[in-house]
Amino acid sequence: LTADAIVVGAGIVGAACADELARGGMKVTVLEPFVVGGGATAAGMGHVVVMDDSEAQFALTRFSQEIWQALAPQLPRDAEYTPNGTLWVAADEEEMAEVRRKHQFYAARGVVTEPLDAVSLCQAEPKLRPGLAGGLRVPGDSVVYPPAVVRFLLARAKARLVSETAVQVADGRVDLASGSSLTAGVIINATGTAAPSLTPGIEIIPRKGHLLITDRYPGFVRHQLVELGYLKSAHGHSQESVAFNVQPRATGQLIIGSSRQYGVQDPRVEPALLGRMLRRAIEYLPGLADLQTVRTWTGFRPSTPDNLPHIGRAPGFQQVYVAAGHEGLGITTALGTARLIGDCILNRPSPIPRDPYDPSRVVPHAH
Ligand SMILES: Cc1cc2nc3c(=O)[nH]c(=O)nc-3n(C[C@H](O)[C@H](O)[C@H](O)COP(=O)(O)OP(=O)(O)OC[C@H]3O[C@@H](n4cnc5c(N)ncnc54)[C@H](O)[C@@H]3O)c2cc1C
Repeated sequence: LTADAIVVGAGIVGAACADELARGGMKVTVLEPFVVGGGATAAGMGHVVVMDDSEAQFALTRFSQEIWQALAPQLPRDAEYTPNGTLWVAADEEEMAEVRRKHQFYAARGVVTEPLDAVSLCQAEPKLRPGLAGGLRVPGDSVVYPPAVVRFLLARAKARLVSETAVQVADGRVDLASGSSLTAGVIINATGTAAPSLTPGIEIIPRKGHLLITDRYPGFVRHQLVELGYLKSAHGHSQESVAFNVQPRATGQLIIGSSRQYGVQDPRVEPALLGRMLRRAIEYLPGLADLQTVRTWTGFRPSTPDNLPHIGRAPGFQQVYVAAGHEGLGITTALGTARLIGDCILNRPSPIPRDPYDPSRVVPHAH
């Protein structure tokens, strides 16, 4: 055997799995033909956020956030862990009803949130346009710089990094594009949007997103600001949508998002959609119109029909596992995912039920 475990893919999910298994006493090899943390992980915003689209999504995001909070003191400076919290912005009374619902949902499950009326919203974020109805502050949410977290996790795992592409995985064996094979007790497919090519039978669809980063404007906003309409954008399955989502970085820069598109493989920035996204952001934060842009880019979220990732044994195999399909929450949920994968492999009980993420579950088709 070349290793106890082979993790295929060095995004944040693969790196977290490598770290978890190494801490469980296993010798881990990681396969990554490109840049470590250079896939969806480098394209993401790095918002660590508790979400409540479903009980299973809440359980995994909440559980993962607790692991992030425990890990924070050990993270290196360049991981930029910043506990600035989320502020969900309500534009009107309908969205204020959603603020109250969310507040109750979180309160019933032990997550502290703070509803804000129009005046307190203005005080919390003076750059927001006047006339908004209020919001919900979630102080436990945070922001990280994902590529640096990947490097930290792989180093902590003392993983052997092999620059190769996997073309097939089977019980105990990974076949490589170079023609050779590697063997190990367990294999974990953590290749994000590419996962179905190695594990037929699971469905993951790339969902394109645009982001933009500005020059440095420290203090322009204090929280990660997200419109409540974001939930409709993220969890609906329309072909194309944009939502106001602005994140202050530790550098003083702002990341502005976000868009969601199905059915597009071309990674180029689309000026028309980027324009729509920016107009939406400027509606909420008019001052953005005066800021300098440094860079725009796109990435592909690994999306599944039921908005839940695949975590667990691959259908039809004994020693092959899948950890993929985290859509727009893979930075948040990588650490919880790794814990569940470690629990499956090392036969440990898990703190949350694992069934909802079982890759063999029957997934309703929402598209
Ligand atoms: C615009 C945008 C904004 C986002 N914002 C957030 C956010 O704020 N918060 C959040 O929690 N999430 C966010 N996400 C989602 C998050 O980025 C992803 O869910 C997460 O990065 C997925 O990680 P991964 O490790 O599964 O995939 P990836 O990072 O894509 O890693 C997979 C790796 O596998 C490698 N690979 C592929 N095929 C093979 C093969 N055959 N052999 C070997 N290696 C292979 C690839 O090269 C890649 O490095 C965002 C995503 C996008 C696109």
